[in-house]
Amino acid sequence: MGLLAMTHAVPLVDLSAQYAAIGPEIDAAIRSVVERAAFIMGPEVQAFEIEFAAFCATRHAVGVASGTAALELTLRACQIGAGDEVITSAHTFIATAEAISATGARPVFADIDPVTYTLDPEAVAAAVTPATRAILPVHIYGQPAHMDRLLAIAARHDLVVVEDAAQAHGARWHGRPVGSLGHAACFSFYPGKNLGAYGDAGAITTDDPQLAAEVALLRNHGRRSKYLHEIKGYGERLDTLQAAVLRAKLPHLPTWTAARQRLAARYSERLAPLAERLTLPGVDPAAEAVWHLYVVRTQPRDALLDSLQQSGIGAGIHYPTPLHLQPAYADLGYRRGDLPVTERVAESCLSLPLYPEMTEAQQDAVVAAIAAFFGQR
Ligand SMILES: *Cc1c(COP(=O)(O)O)cnc(C)c1O
Repeated sequence: MGLLAMTHAVPLVDLSAQYAAIGPEIDAAIRSVVERAAFIMGPEVQAFEIEFAAFCATRHAVGVASGTAALELTLRACQIGAGDEVITSAHTFIATAEAISATGARPVFADIDPVTYTLDPEAVAAAVTPATRAILPVHIYGQPAHMDRLLAIAARHDLVVVEDAAQAHGARWHGRPVGSLGHAACFSFYPGKNLGAYGDAGAITTDDPQLAAEVALLRNHGRRSKYLHEIKGYGERLDTLQAAVLRAKLPHLPTWTAARQRLAARYSERLAPLAERLTLPGVDPAAEAVWHLYVVRTQPRDALLDSLQQSGIGAGIHYPTPLHLQPAYADLGYRRGDLPVTERVAESCLSLPLYPEMTEAQQDAVVAAIAAFFGQR
């Protein structure tokens, strides 16, 4: 790595930059929990649930231990289990499908739209069988899935729609926030997500009071009172320290989202001259994306990735192997070629550095490195 490259080193994400900006607020939030020595549930968790439900424009939010737990407990609360099928995307983090498998149900992978990378509604409609119970769209990279068409398919076949909103806190569809679009939605607060805790954390949002109550029972060993367990549940509570961190961060999220949106628009503007070599991300006219990731496509992708990494630029791949081709899902019997768009995207996608604190100079260094790779310095 040359000296020039070193001075322009840009990470894929920079969580320290965020802490540098709001450190005292985080420290105070953590200290208050530690001083009260109240580490499990309590008012901090409840307050975060109320504030996060308001953020998502839903009646309820239930805090849980992770995004994975949010997905699994929501599907269980919807009575999904052995013999059922749940249609989802293979172009996502594996937790989306693992949650389906954990209930005993079968993940059925439908192909994605080549522009937005979210579930292709036509492919979903074609995948419905008599065993289908739910559709699990993923708002991948921070862009809402095509909810109008997915909800119409669900209504036609009496299916539940559970949003995987782990990458899309604050994104909107026809002006309405994700989390309020399906029957329920699942959020992750993994540290690198748009709203990140300082460890694992997650939440479910819904307008359905029964569903919220069921998830609240399931996350805490099936109990409403300390020693009476109404159903067999799980230990998947939202950690109180994480709730305190999330409460300190939530008021900043709109500002951080605006910064992501400004940087994404700037990438699209600066990279437009390379459009013949690089496919830039497209946004549905009904969607307001929150840019968890800014993902371009190119071939050969790996050569560009290597070149950026050699210049100290932390590009990444989300995700290199689609779920239907993962060894863990070999038992489902999918083959290469079954999901052509998903496979093409997995082979060509590249995530560029993007985080709210990224400077324009850092972004210019990324753009310059890409232009240099394509010989258009
Ligand atoms: C991060 C993520 C999850 C899992 O969330 P965890 O909090 O890591 O368990 C699920 N789905 C998607 C799309 C994600 O990005």
